[in-house]
Amino acid sequence: MASVKRARQKELKNINKEENQENSKVIKRNINIPEAITVRELANRMAEQSSSVIKFLFGMGVTVTINQTLAADTAEYLVKEFGHNPIREEKAEEIIKKIKESRAENLKNRPPIVTVMGHVDHGKTSVLDVLRSSNVVSGEFGGITQHIGAYQIESQGNKLTFIDTPGHAAFTEMRARGSKLTDVVVLVVAADDGVKPQTVESIKHAKAANVPIVVAINKCDLPDADPQKIKNQLLEHELIAEDLSGDTLMVEISAKTKLNLDKLIDAIVLQAEILDLKTDFESKATGIVLESKIDIGRGPVATIIVTTGTLKKGDFFVSGFRWGKVRAIINDKGANINDALPSTPVEILGINGAAKSGDDFIVLDNEKEAKTLSENRAQERKEGKNPLTFATQESAFTDKSTEELNLIIKSDVHGSSEAIKNAVSQIKHDEVKPNIILSDIGMVTETDVTLAKASNAVLIAFNVKPSKEAKKLAENENIKISSYNIIYEVLDYIKKKMSGLLSPDVKETIIGTAQILEIFKVSGAGKVAGSKVTEGEITNVSEVRIIRDGAVIYTGKVGTLFREKNQVKEVSNGQECGITVKDYMDFQKNDTIEAFSKTSTERSI
Ligand code: GDP
Repeated sequence: MASVKRARQKELKNINKEENQENSKVIKRNINIPEAITVRELANRMAEQSSSVIKFLFGMGVTVTINQTLAADTAEYLVKEFGHNPIREEKAEEIIKKIKESRAENLKNRPPIVTVMGHVDHGKTSVLDVLRSSNVVSGEFGGITQHIGAYQIESQGNKLTFIDTPGHAAFTEMRARGSKLTDVVVLVVAADDGVKPQTVESIKHAKAANVPIVVAINKCDLPDADPQKIKNQLLEHELIAEDLSGDTLMVEISAKTKLNLDKLIDAIVLQAEILDLKTDFESKATGIVLESKIDIGRGPVATIIVTTGTLKKGDFFVSGFRWGKVRAIINDKGANINDALPSTPVEILGINGAAKSGDDFIVLDNEKEAKTLSENRAQERKEGKNPLTFATQESAFTDKSTEELNLIIKSDVHGSSEAIKNAVSQIKHDEVKPNIILSDIGMVTETDVTLAKASNAVLIAFNVKPSKEAKKLAENENIKISSYNIIYEVLDYIKKKMSGLLSPDVKETIIGTAQILEIFKVSGAGKVAGSKVTEGEITNVSEVRIIRDGAVIYTGKVGTLFREKNQVKEVSNGQECGITVKDYMDFQKNDTIEAFSKTSTERSI
């Protein structure tokens, strides 16, 4: 059945192609295709009727509305089929890829970008402050160190960039917005206090993002400091110190007495060397927005961290759907500079509005490119995401590789957390599997919600409640927190969510065929196919295919069914009738109308 369908579609494609090529003999246009475009806009650009585009897609088995957004690939295909010349507007990703297609000779190690995490009061801010101040040469730029959201230090020829907002909340929020800006996490654990809930959360967030951890065991100046105890506690969380035969770098420091800060820097540098953070220093710059503000006097200011290439004064750029020309670059020492190398945090003036933290930042060749890309992005934002592609349509028919259902489970006690974890690991299926990215004890927090968003995860609260802030954030971000107090209900829910990732079984049954004998025009109803049912029956709600010389030329739905000018619900084998088909009138004598019904059965685990 499926192969017949495919063969028919192929023939149909050829027919449509010929028809469209016929039409296109009139004018062949160059059609600009952005990353996503609505059916209406594409039809406008081709000077075709929207209905022709919809009809064409319908013939391909793809149902769309006039306002549906099409992906560039789909739009390009259509433009060719309609006989025009598609010109793809370059995708941001392609531009970035091109920028990143760096020449080997330009590749150099860039400084690592570091985020400091850990439990409250363990000394994150102190570590960030002491590292920053130890590096500020007194009197340099009037001794002013700007707080621009990140800073860079230099130690023995090695540069390191630190994000100024400590903690995993900001880190995961950035991920939720699609940006990975951290190469190394420094986990600060107070030697007199030990591993605490936020220490564990930090470990889990860093692991979920696949970012290596360097442990700074802080407050080692205190008499009751017990670094060995910390190392033993961290074992439980799979952070194994080198002296315990593991590979996690751990340094015993004191932010207060500045003990071993140089060793901490060495450990971060070593971890960065392992990561081999090479990038092209010569190409046009790309970066990520860290924060942004509207400054009275200076206008919109964005702090960005350059990730590739060299940013120069005068560069044209886009950032999200904003654009601009770099009017000034100010570094973390408050100095005006002319260019910024990879991993450098800088403030930028010249953007045409407030950027969003987490937005990308891409330097383009000229003003026109920057403007066009920014306009396209603004347009896409208006039209909504998830443009339609043939791939998304086809996914229902093709075998998928294994899907994963990401899970975040917060529970009341260790026992329930373990029991749920064990039970979840028993759920096995060929096409979909559960993946616990965080299983922890305690109430659902804002960071859990952000992590759920960043990882597209299902968030389950077992015998615990979300905090007020988490509840509010979940509502705003449209993240569902599912609360349970019975384990098998949790499992049922997980299975249901996993089942949702399975494509449904779609079965098609042919219920009848009719032969077109005559075409009539009826006022109010348009063209009616005067037909005789030759098999089964046709109903007024049937889906139908119009078949001409063995090829499907249209697939749609019955509009109205007539017998002797009366509207009827069904017509049986041997009877003559009039049939209209929704949005279709180009019937011909001897066409076959095939009526079918589709049933789709949801599969479950
Ligand atoms: P954060 O909440 O993790 O950012 O922690 P803070 O940096 O604010 O530090 C919390 C408290 O611990 C402050 O009172 C600091 O002065 C103190 N503190 C931080 N580092 C050290 C240290 O190495 N030794 C001692 N004795 N106290 C420290």
